[in-house]
This record gives sequence, C-alpha cells and structure tokens, in this order.
Amino acid sequence: MLNIAFIESLLGIKTLESPDFSTMFRPLPKLLIVDDSPSNRMSMCETLRNAPIDIICATNGSEAVRLASKHRFFLVFMDVNMPGMDGFETCEIIHSQHIQDSHVTLPIIFITASSGAGQVDRCYQSGGIDFIAKPYNEKILVAKTKIFLHLYQERLRTCEALIEVETARKRSELLVHNAGEGIIGLDNELIIHSANSVACALLLSKKSDLIGSSIRTVICQKEDDDKTWEESPLVRAYSESQNVHMEDALFHRSFGQPLSVEYTFASIVSNNTLDGGVLLFQDISERKETAGKLIQLAQFDQLTGLYNRMMFHSLLDQILTGANRYSTEIALHFLDLDNFKDVNDTLGHDAGDIVIQEAARRLKHCLRDSDIIARLGGDEFGIIQRLDEQRQVSGAYLAERIIETFQVPFTINNTDAFIGCSIGIALYPEHAKTGADLIKDADTAMYKSKQSGRNQFHFFSNEMQDQMMQHMELVTSLKHALENKEIFLVYQPQIDLDTKSVVGVEALMRWLHPKRGLVGPDVFIPIAEQSGLINALGEWCLLEACNQAKKWSDKETGLALEVYLSVNVSTNQLAHGGFSKVLKRVLDVTQVDPKILKLEITETVLMQNPEVTIAELEKINQFGVDIAIDDFGTGFSSLSYLGVLPLTCLKIDRCFVTDICSNETNQKIILSIINLAQSLELSVIGEGVETEEELEFLYHHGCRKIQGYYFSKPIAADKIQDFIAESKKVICSKIALI
Ligand code: C2E
Ligand code: CA
Ligand code: CA
Repeated sequence: MLNIAFIESLLGIKTLESPDFSTMFRPLPKLLIVDDSPSNRMSMCETLRNAPIDIICATNGSEAVRLASKHRFFLVFMDVNMPGMDGFETCEIIHSQHIQDSHVTLPIIFITASSGAGQVDRCYQSGGIDFIAKPYNEKILVAKTKIFLHLYQERLRTCEALIEVETARKRSELLVHNAGEGIIGLDNELIIHSANSVACALLLSKKSDLIGSSIRTVICQKEDDDKTWEESPLVRAYSESQNVHMEDALFHRSFGQPLSVEYTFASIVSNNTLDGGVLLFQDISERKETAGKLIQLAQFDQLTGLYNRMMFHSLLDQILTGANRYSTEIALHFLDLDNFKDVNDTLGHDAGDIVIQEAARRLKHCLRDSDIIARLGGDEFGIIQRLDEQRQVSGAYLAERIIETFQVPFTINNTDAFIGCSIGIALYPEHAKTGADLIKDADTAMYKSKQSGRNQFHFFSNEMQDQMMQHMELVTSLKHALENKEIFLVYQPQIDLDTKSVVGVEALMRWLHPKRGLVGPDVFIPIAEQSGLINALGEWCLLEACNQAKKWSDKETGLALEVYLSVNVSTNQLAHGGFSKVLKRVLDVTQVDPKILKLEITETVLMQNPEVTIAELEKINQFGVDIAIDDFGTGFSSLSYLGVLPLTCLKIDRCFVTDICSNETNQKIILSIINLAQSLELSVIGEGVETEEELEFLYHHGCRKIQGYYFSKPIAADKIQDFIAESKKVICSKIALI
C-alpha cells in the first residue's frame, strides 16, 4: 500500500507543530438545571460553584427543550414535577430531538421528591440515566456531576482524535489524487499496484490497465541509450535501495505516444527488505517547449533563422579552442551588403527584410556543412570556415562564390535591385588568436573592400590595420577640428566666357590638421558624413561663406562685388530634413541676399528619402536661393527628377572634362549634358578645366561658364577681390587663344 507519510516527505510537505488553540480557548462544559423553583436552582448552582463548568438554568420544560437544542450539555439535572410539561415529558422530547443529530445520548438525571418504584421506572422509561431523591445530598450531586464531566471529556478527546485521523486521511487522499503529479506505487517486483488519477490521465491509461503491469511498459529508454533495462536508472536505484531523480525522461503513454517527464523514484525498505517503491512524475512537455523557444530566441536570428551575433561569438570561441588543439586553420568572413541602406530607405523595411532573408538563403547555399554562418545584425553576416591546406585559396574561393551569387538581382515587389556584398577575411592563427580580434580584423578588411569600390573581398593585412588606425585617429581629431578653428574656406572663381568676367565663387572646405598639415575634403567629408559631423561642418560652412559674401557684396565696404556664392550641401544634410530651417537662420543672421546664393547638391541626394529632400528643396527655392546639380552625370539616378526639382544649373563633372580631346565617349556625354541643359533652360558649368583644349571644346559646344585651374585654383577669401580686378585681362587673353 502507499505510504502516505512517505509520499508527504517526498513531496516536501511537513506538518507544522502548532500550539493547541482548541484547548486553550475551548468553552467550559455546559450543565443544564431544569427546575421551576428559583430556590432549588440557586442552591444547586451554589453546590456546583467550584466545578469547572458552565451552568445554564431553565425554569420549565419547554425552555429546557429549547436550550437543549441550542447547546451541547454534558449533563442535565431535571426536576420531575413542573407546571406544564413535567420532567419525563421534557426528557422524552429532548432525547427524540437529540437523537436526530447526535449519536451520543444526552445524560439526564431526574431530581424527584418521590422515589417509589413506579416513579423510578418512569424515570428510566423516559430516557433518564439516573435519579437523585429530593432533598438531594450535595456530595452525591457533586460526585455525579464529576463522573459525567469526566465521561464527557474522555469522549471529547476520543472524538478529536478520530477527527484528526479522518482529516489526515482525507488530506492524503486529496494529495494523492490532486497532486498535479502522477504517483505510481510499485511492488517488490516493480509491478504497478496503484496509480493516482493524474498518473492515469498523463499516461492516457485506465487504472485497471496500469495495475498489474510492469513499470517497464511505462518507462521508455531513449534511442541513443544503449543501456539494458537492468542498467537503467530506476532499476539500478531500486537494486541499491536508493532514490533517483531524472529531470528529462520519456514515458510511454498508451498507444505508444511518448511523454516527456521529470520523475523521482524512491525505493521503500521495510524491515530491512526492499518492498517496492513509489514513482512520482510530471509532464514537462510544456516546460520543454518553452525552454526550446527561449533557446531559439537566445541563439537564433528571428528573421533569417541563422545563428545570432551572441551565438556566433560563442561558437567561434569554441571552434578556436578546438582549432588550437588540432592545429586547424580558420577563415573568418565578415560580410556587409552593399547599398542595403538605400533599399531600406527607398523601398521600406519590409523590402529590406526580404533582401536579408534572400541574402541569408544565398549565403547558406554557398557553404559546406562544416561552415558556420550567423547574422551579426542589420545587413552584416559572419562565416566561420574551416580551411584545408591551401587556406588562402579556399578562403578566397568561398568569397568569390558569394560575390558571384550576389550578381543575380534581388526581385523586390516586382522590381530588380542589384545588391552586392563586400567581404573581409581574417585568418586564424595567422592574423589573430582570439575570436574578438579575428572579427575585428575581418571587419577592417571588409571596410577596405567597401572603400575600394564595394562588391569585392580583401584579406586582412597589417598595412590595413595601420590605415584603419590612421582613419580612426582622423575621425577623432575631426570631432575637435571646428572648435580648434582648424577648418577654413577657400573660394574658386567661376568664369563667364561671354561676359569675360568672374560671375561666382564656389566655397570649398579645407582642414589644416595640426600634425598632418592640409587634409583635403575628399578625405574628411566622407568621414564627416559617416560620423554625422557633416551637419555641424555644413552649417558652419554656410554661415562662414554667407558672412564672407555679405562683406563682398556690401556697398559700405567699398567692394560691392557682384558675384554669386556656391556652397556645397551634402546629401546627408538634406535627406534628414531640417536643412531649410538652418538656411533660413543663416540668411536671417547674415542678411545676405538669397539671390546671390547657389546650393550645389549631387544627384545621389534623391536616392535617400526623396520625399523629404524634394520638400526641402522646394522650401529653399521659395527663399529665392538657386539650386545646382553638382558632378552631373556621375550619379545613377533617373533623369525624370530634373523636371520635378526647382533647379537652375548643371555642373559637368571634372571626370568628363579631363582628357576631353582624346576621349570620345566623354565628348558625347558632355554634348548631351549641354543639350539637356539647354532644352531644360538650365545654365551649365564645366568644372575642372585645366587646359586650353578643354576650354576650347566646351566653349565651341555651348558651355560658356567655366571653373577650373586653367583660370584659378581655389584661393583665400582676401585674394578674391584682387583676382576679380585682374581677371578681365587674363580671361580675354585666354579666350583669344581658342
Ligand atoms: P566638388 O564640389 O566637385 O568641388 C570641386 C572640386 O574640384 C574641388 O576640389 C576643386 O578644388 C576641384 N577642382 C576644380 N577645378 C579643378 C581643376 O582644374 N583640376 C583639378 N584637379 N581639380 C579641380 P576640393 O576642394 O578638393 O573638393 C572636393 C570635393 O569635396 C568637392 O567636390 C565637394 O564634393 C567636397 N567639398 C568641398 N567642400 C565642401 C563643403 O563645404 N561641403 C560639402 N558638403 N562638400 C564639400
Ligand atoms: Ca561643388
Ligand atoms: Ca563637382
């Protein structure tokens, strides 16, 4: 049979030893005196005053009946002769009423004046237990009271003990059936002899089917477990009179379905011999499922199903430990998609998600089973590749394959988008010994791929490391360049060949680095754009240039130069909105005439956030400020925006102008730009003109505004006035040559 105390101890239930409040606050036993004579009642009360009892009195039979139904008395002293209902009648009614709700008869002792035989018979017939003759002997009254009091207290104790036993029985019954755990009792042959309802429910079995069968039919051994039944944990524990706890086991339900359980088996030993055991178990399938989900969340990227960054780091560390032991070599590939930001910005995040998923699918396709891939975040992926002997070759081979698979366009919402992939590769142990360093080196190499034109791969090298360090230093020092007054502007004149005069100047930024000397904008503008510093730099440039232009144009200074001012505005400044407010503030502060201001933007500006950009450009145009497209022809965006934007000018990029005389393609491009500008009624400026031939070509094909070293390099602000004063002669002499 089940040993309840044993089960309780297994379940950790402990009965607390509390003080017995029931006896501390228990009311005194009650005695009822029924007598119509007040003096009798009083004298009896007086006689029993020292007894530890509570005396209640009734003056007649019906009051006695009422009191007897209300209180539980241990004894009644009943006068026989009373007006109305006599004592016998009262006794009969009390007993008849009492019997219905108690199995213990209320003892009633009659107090009677007559002790004749008839009277005594009546006494017992009516249910009395005894009688006392009047006038009563006080000692007899006290003695009888004591006896019945004692009997009552004894009975009470027995009752309480019985109640306790009953409560304990009910409690353990409840426990066994509602424990939430399956409980199975086993005999000494490990045959099931009892099972609670939870056990039956969990095993989908009837109690009658379980009882009599071996526990072996319930416990199933895992497939990869080659132990025999005799070696199984439960049987071994039993044979050693021990207990065993299994956190993750499988039981058979009926029809062979498996059930994940946690179980405890305890052997029962009685009189030094093994006497079966108790098996407690609970269903852990839900817990396992939740745990599985948590693992999934903690280790895998939800979008692609690949490992996440955290898991990648930990796998890399594990693999490197193994690689060290077995002298394996490893290539770590760090990948970053090209132009992914444009997809996200222009086509939305859902499209971005599709690209990431498709990229993950393509990458997995390139890998061998032994390679590990993870999404490191955003559009970055990491691959751990175990190398064979020709390590560089196989590292490069994988990178080439990956780049090749990205040549196929991504189809997003029925549109084809070309998204390349830049890769950096670091080798273990050649480049780094730890996972973190390896990732850092691969990242550096990846950065090199991006800088060299994207859609390619590079192996890490120490020179790269140096370049990276220098780059990082530049980023840091650029942060303080403005406040240290290391940034300044130079101005390059723009010439009108028809009027033979300087019509404008382009403000160009310079950085005089305290250690490196002059750093060109080609180097620091991209850094400023990446680090977000471009907004502060751009605003400073606009303010400084406008202040300068105000000085030039002001009649009071005596200069009164009539030139317009071109200021470059970076794509990042425009694409995030708010630039028009900056411009308005600068115009208000400097009081420069908006009509002399021209902002140069590049075509790529429309690739990022076109709605915001177009709205900004329209506001700018409403201020009366001109807008020119810089580096025209180098961007890849659609020409349709030319009709939409409030433009006044196109600038032909220097790359088309250089070597113009020997490069027919560039000639064709320049001619079509000039035609386009003319048909859209836009002015056109040829930039980067260095030679007489270049000037001649542009002049004869209708481009009459020129900027280039042939006339002037960018010069300091205070040189502009002299340059303009001298310019007419110089311009005329140069035009005369062509
Ligand atoms: P950009 O806007 O196309 O400016 C013209 C660049 O071509 C200037 O280089 C100028 O010095 C150069 N250039 C002009 N004529 C000739 C020539 O005949 N031969 C040669 N070899 N070069 C010539 P710079 O000043 O180095 O500026 C380079 C680029 O940096 C600029 O190209 C512009 O994109 C950016 N940049 C410069 N200043 C600023 C600025 O204040 N804000 C922003 N956002 N970008 C700027
Ligand atoms: Ca420019
Ligand atoms: Ca340009």
